[in-house]
This record gives sequence, structure tokens and C-alpha cells, in this order.
Amino acid sequence: MRVLRRIGLTGGIGSGKSTVATMFAELGLPVLDLDKVGRELLAPGTVALQRVVQVFGDGFVLPDGSLDRRALAAHCFASAQATKELNGIMHPLIWQAEQQWLAGQSGELAIIEASVLLESGGAGRMDAVIVVMAEQPVRLQRVLARGLQDEHAFYAIIKRQCTDEQRREQADFLIDNNDSLQALRDQVDSLYAQLRKDLSK
Ligand code: ADP
Repeated sequence: MRVLRRIGLTGGIGSGKSTVATMFAELGLPVLDLDKVGRELLAPGTVALQRVVQVFGDGFVLPDGSLDRRALAAHCFASAQATKELNGIMHPLIWQAEQQWLAGQSGELAIIEASVLLESGGAGRMDAVIVVMAEQPVRLQRVLARGLQDEHAFYAIIKRQCTDEQRREQADFLIDNNDSLQALRDQVDSLYAQLRKDLSK
């Protein structure tokens, strides 16, 4: 009987997790981006957005009916309780979407990428977890070059994510991304070979 192995892929902000996900996709593996799933679930007119409005009020909805993500993120950053409530709405919906996506896969390996896979207790749903690691100064430099977050946002996110030690403890496979993109690709290639080899065990 065919068994689908769910391979979780995570890493701290700027570690190179998305870059690794793209490399796996280029090797032909199906990749689900759970951060993107979460964003899509909150599109205008969705059940998730309705629940968010019920819990947080319509002050977080912009005039065009879309969610004011920036304001909600700032609110959740400032309140652990708000984060808990938002997770309570989103996590079951994200897990459901993940299940549906997995059910549609016909191969033997699937990559599930999520920035807070470990923080949200998602490692238990995976058959194996890959963690992408890089030193904090390297990550900061790359995040600033990417241009989506400034230094203040970087440290605010770091504070709420796992430590490198916690990531190391939960990883089945570690990818070191302190070096060049070619060095990263070489590791992804050999990990891909390893995952395929493990399938035959
Ligand atoms: P994450 O998804 O973990 O936040 P990304 O994959 O988006 O991180 O990588 C952060 C930025 O660093 C991106 O602009 C990416 O292109 C770049 N990057 C990733 N790995 C390397 C590398 N080894 N060398 C140079 N730039 C890199």
C-alpha cells in the first residue's frame, strides 16, 4: 500500500525556509505553504474572516471588506490572549485545508512548509521535520535585503519564535544555510536523495 510521508519544513524568519521549499518544488516534490493557506483562508467573505470579526470586532476590517492584517498582527503581537484566540480560529481551519491537500496527493512525499510549525505543535502531524538554520546576523541581513520587514519587526518576530536550541531538538534533518545558495542547493539535493532512499526502508 502506498504511504504518503508528510515532511514538515520550518525555520526562523530569514533562515531560508521558503528558498528551500522552492528548491524541493523544483525537484518535483509537492509543497504546501501553510502561511499562504492561512492568508487565503482570511480572504473577504470567508468563514474565518467572519469569526475574526465576531471575536475581534469589525475595527480590523478595511473599507473594502478585507482584513486589516497589519492591525490584527500588531494587536496579536501585543496580547498573548489575542494570539491564542486567533490561533483557535485559524489552526483547525488550516489543519483541515492541509488534510484536504494531502488527500489529493498521489506521490509518496509531500513537503509542508510553515513558519510556526514547531510553535503551533504541528511537528506531531509530520512524519519528519526539516529545520533550516542560519546565524541570527546572517538572517537579519537577508531579511533587510528582502525588504519586507525592518530590524524592529525582525526582533519582534524572533522573540515569539522558537529558539535555535528548541528547533534543533525537534529536527529530524537540519539544513545549514549560512553559506551560498549553491551550498544550500547541494544540501537540498542530498536530503532529497536521503528522503527517497528512506522510502524504500
Ligand atoms: P524565510 O522563508 O526563512 O523567512 P527566505 O527563504 O525568504 O527565508 O530567505 C530570506 C532571504 O534570503 C530571501 O531574499 C532569500 O532569497 C535570501 N537567501 C536565502 N538563502 C540565501 C543564501 N544562502 N544566500 C543568499 N541569500 C539567501
